[in-house]
Amino acid sequence: MNNTLSVFNEIVTELIQDEKANPISEHIPVDDLYKTIDLSLDESPISEIEFKKTLKSLVLKSTKTASNAYFNQLFGGRNDKAVLGDLLSVVLNNSMYTYKAAGPQIGVEKVIIDKVCEIIGWDENSNGTIAPGGSMTNFMAMLMARDAKNNRAPFEGIQHDMIVYTSKDSHYSIPKNAAFSGIGRDNVRYISVDGEGKMNTEELNNTIEEDIKNGLCPTMVYATAGTTVLGVFDNVLTISEICKKHNVWFHVDGAYCGSVIFSSKYKFLIEGLENVDSFSFNAHKMIGTPLTCSLILVKDKKHLYDSFSNDASYLYQTDHDDFNLGKTSLQCGRRNDALKFWTLWKSVGTKGLEEIVDKQFELADVARNYVRNNSDYTLYSFDNSISICFNYKGISAREICTLLYENTKLLVGYGSFNEQEFIRLITINVQNNEEDILNFFKTLEKFVDDNKSLFL
Ligand SMILES: *Cc1c(COP(=O)(O)O)cnc(C)c1O
Repeated sequence: MNNTLSVFNEIVTELIQDEKANPISEHIPVDDLYKTIDLSLDESPISEIEFKKTLKSLVLKSTKTASNAYFNQLFGGRNDKAVLGDLLSVVLNNSMYTYKAAGPQIGVEKVIIDKVCEIIGWDENSNGTIAPGGSMTNFMAMLMARDAKNNRAPFEGIQHDMIVYTSKDSHYSIPKNAAFSGIGRDNVRYISVDGEGKMNTEELNNTIEEDIKNGLCPTMVYATAGTTVLGVFDNVLTISEICKKHNVWFHVDGAYCGSVIFSSKYKFLIEGLENVDSFSFNAHKMIGTPLTCSLILVKDKKHLYDSFSNDASYLYQTDHDDFNLGKTSLQCGRRNDALKFWTLWKSVGTKGLEEIVDKQFELADVARNYVRNNSDYTLYSFDNSISICFNYKGISAREICTLLYENTKLLVGYGSFNEQEFIRLITINVQNNEEDILNFFKTLEKFVDDNKSLFL
């Protein structure tokens, strides 16, 4: 292990130096990948020297997501304290299903869950768990909603036409999860959005009432706190009232921007959160832990047990079941995604998490102001969002993003709203400062200027 650690140190030190000098790795076209790096697996071992050389080359040629030129979708940067926690959880290799297999690490996860529930404004009856990503925490919410609507569903399967409602700008995991859960993709209703991308709540209410009239079974509503493209927040308070009136489970998908719960300045964006049945957010997005760290919280912990606990005498042999987290998990063996969040939170405090969130909005203001004050740009996104959507000189967003990537300039993605395609800059990396954001625009402008013939 000592030798391994020194190899690790050597490679990481080189990576971090390289990241500064070359914030973007050379683009390797897929067709050249296996010619560029020796990824082959052979019968015989290779020498330690060859092994290290190959590994280093692989690491240095991989996409650099922590550099100041990475503005691609929804994560970026590197938080040292969180990395330390994650490295230790790899070395410890606990499995989070039982206290016996993870010991105090179970406490680490429980403390995080309890603290988040407290911040939401819930009592001791609430609980939660961690799953591998926002798609999976969204899935868990759907399973709990399904079983809350019909507690025979886990035994007999779906017997009624259960209907799920979400906005047309919500995440694509929702129709996938409808397929997985037996509810069915065709039973997802996509509610239109207003001019700013928020779910039309009147249409939501009318659609639910229409379905009830037709003998269907409205089962859950997904609102989004930070839509994937525009970073917009649905009106949680109004939707919670509609859900209550019709006895429909209400989940808020905060994978992208649910972390505003930590900010006294921005938590108004998610006002009414204490009224929801479940809420999920990705600490690996706004909080900046390594992937993945997605939490799901439920107001009434009964639903976690109803949907996810299964007796397994070979597994649950000791200790208090509150500390055997497998009882409330989608998985069996489960990696420790809690420690990285805990090491960060412990070191910077809740105030530090607040600063992390606020900084992203400050950087977003810098970017939005730049776009607004420059007539070569058109802005398509709105205030209070860390997604800045714009076009430059009317050039195709798709084309410019692809060329910036292929020419090793910037990593940034594009999206669309109301049939309008645009570049989508994300200010989620809090190691960036104002200068890095302004550099983004300078780099883009210079690239277009130097390559006029490409953009005719
Ligand atoms: C990113 C995202 C997800 C999916 O999260 P993963 O961790 O990538 O699975 C779900 N919903 C929204 C709104 C997201 O932005």
